[in-house]
Amino acid sequence: MNVVISNLLITRVCPLKCENCRVSKDYEGSPYPSIDSYKLLTPVEWLENIKILESLGCVFQTIYGGEPVVYPWLEKLVKLLNDNDVYYTFITSGLNSKRWFEIQKEIGIKGISASVDIIPNGGDRGRKSSIGEVFLYEMKKLRVPDVVAVTVLDESNIQIDNVLGLIKRFSDNGIYVEITLMDEPKSEWYDFAEETGLSIKSKERFNELMGSIKKMKELGYLIHNNTEFFDVAKDVIVNGYYCKRPYTSLTVEPDGVIRTCYRLGGREVRKYKVQDLVHKEEEILEAFEKDRKELCGGCVWNCVIQSEFMMDKQDKFKSFRHNQ
Ligand code: SF4
Ligand code: SF4
Repeated sequence: MNVVISNLLITRVCPLKCENCRVSKDYEGSPYPSIDSYKLLTPVEWLENIKILESLGCVFQTIYGGEPVVYPWLEKLVKLLNDNDVYYTFITSGLNSKRWFEIQKEIGIKGISASVDIIPNGGDRGRKSSIGEVFLYEMKKLRVPDVVAVTVLDESNIQIDNVLGLIKRFSDNGIYVEITLMDEPKSEWYDFAEETGLSIKSKERFNELMGSIKKMKELGYLIHNNTEFFDVAKDVIVNGYYCKRPYTSLTVEPDGVIRTCYRLGGREVRKYKVQDLVHKEEEILEAFEKDRKELCGGCVWNCVIQSEFMMDKQDKFKSFRHNQ
């Protein structure tokens, strides 16, 4: 494998329970263990897994949930990651911000990301975005080095003229924006979303926007995505994206089980844990192939958080492409 980035799902618990999120809920027909039955990995066990991933070339850990702030040993985890020179970002909604602020003051957090979308009609995403935006400004004030707003573009918010303004506003405050695209499930195995009807359809409008964001990136605005993303995205919203070998990201569940990807829990790969990568890499690759063939219908989402902070430091990151 050629794992560059991992996505570590440290807990499936999330107090927000957004309507279209299936990660934080047990639902009828779910192929995954019930949320309460997971034996959560401890910080030491996560570190052991990260060491294995690093030995395979992984340079960056995206730590998400559910809501990572409810992970019981969060302070210990941050400290262990820092002490071992691990590079990471936490993806949070910004809930329980007090706990994050205290961790930053007492231990120091290297990277934090939160969803900030432009939501014309409010709802769950609007609520999450408002919490996220306030939270990110506070984290920046507290001097977290890598602060990122993850912004999902969809059919409704690309129609209004606020996207470029949002990028400028964050950039002026030293906060990076990571552009992602609204995805829809392509089979019952997709567990991050149910049909929203908001996938991007207005191709011309979208292409124009991609061109403008690319120009902003070239002008030095703080945008995480590689420049190529804005060219590739135009094709991806029409034809979909399909990842293939050698896989560059690896996603892991709260108990150390390997997932097919960020949005597919998977079937065959779930027979393996991170430790198995050491001796059973070829078997695991075959399991990936099988899951992708049977369960995946493609996606449009740039499914890893890239870090400018890391890109400055790691040559490997500079050549990283989502679709390798
Ligand atoms: S989408 Fe994120 S914030 Fe919303 S319920 Fe799911 S994990 Fe929580
Ligand atoms: S294309 Fe890759 S990342 Fe996208 S849903 Fe399929 S397996 Fe997951």
